[in-house]
Amino acid sequence: MKRQVVFGIDIGGTNIKSGIVDNEGTILHADNTPTDAQAGRDSLIGKLYAIAGRYKELAAAEGWEPRGMGVATAGYVNAREGRIGYATSNLPGWTGVPLRDNMSRETGLPVALVNDAHAFAIGEAWIGTGKPLEGFLCVTLGTGVGGSWVTKHGGTYFGRDGYAGGYGHIVIRHGGQPCNCGLSGCWEQYASVRALMRQAAEAGLDESATGGSAKKLFELAREGHETALGVIDRYAEYVALGMTNLIHILNPESIVVGGAITAQGDFLFDRIRGKVKEQIMPAYDPVRIVAAALGEQAGLAGAAKLAWQAADGR
Ligand SMILES: [Zn+2]
Repeated sequence: MKRQVVFGIDIGGTNIKSGIVDNEGTILHADNTPTDAQAGRDSLIGKLYAIAGRYKELAAAEGWEPRGMGVATAGYVNAREGRIGYATSNLPGWTGVPLRDNMSRETGLPVALVNDAHAFAIGEAWIGTGKPLEGFLCVTLGTGVGGSWVTKHGGTYFGRDGYAGGYGHIVIRHGGQPCNCGLSGCWEQYASVRALMRQAAEAGLDESATGGSAKKLFELAREGHETALGVIDRYAEYVALGMTNLIHILNPESIVVGGAITAQGDFLFDRIRGKVKEQIMPAYDPVRIVAAALGEQAGLAGAAKLAWQAADGR
């Protein structure tokens, strides 16, 4: 019998991660393609078609049978209608694209379309940190802040349209920093990596000190640079504040945190854990706060998992 596979694609503002995945979650082949988002919608759709076409050829050459395709994308995905409900200027022209039907028509495969934060959580639940857990809260700290709530039975809470998980827009400071959503004081404006670098600049550590890199800022803090340490402590407090709100709403056993910043490990996480412990009502304690395991491949793994569900008609 032919080995059955699905194609997973994860579209970010900078890179498209893609892969061919079997039904155990083994990534048999993976690629990284620049999104080149500013080239616009048609260019991006063309890239997705090219990846799908290449994967069909590769599968044929290997004797694999493609069963479906999962596409995760940045932006707000209308899961019922299979289109992009809203995307920011990170993906110009992406709002409204009926991507599920486009991809299905192009490839002849069943296609699942999902928001990237949900895909991240589904990937972690399938083959990552979330696998042994009985449900968890997933939080992603990147250019934006988002996440997903994975219930005890492995289901993901999508909300009415698929827009659940906009955690970055919890308001943590009345009249605070203006946000691209139209509100002010959103968690994203304090807990994203972009926000961290703004906080560093406000404290006097501008680009000449950090090169605009969070990694460099952490290096300074680890060397005992007092201003850098203060910035990291404050940032951890902001991250913890949003988590505290979510813990009081959802009462999770664990929080799985994604984003490149998780590479900072316990140096950052112990600070967040300490602040969360101080802030939450004792009845909600303990909550494990841990880094995601899959890194960059969680999104494509989650997209692949949904592709399997689409292929099996679920
Ligand atoms: Zn906002």
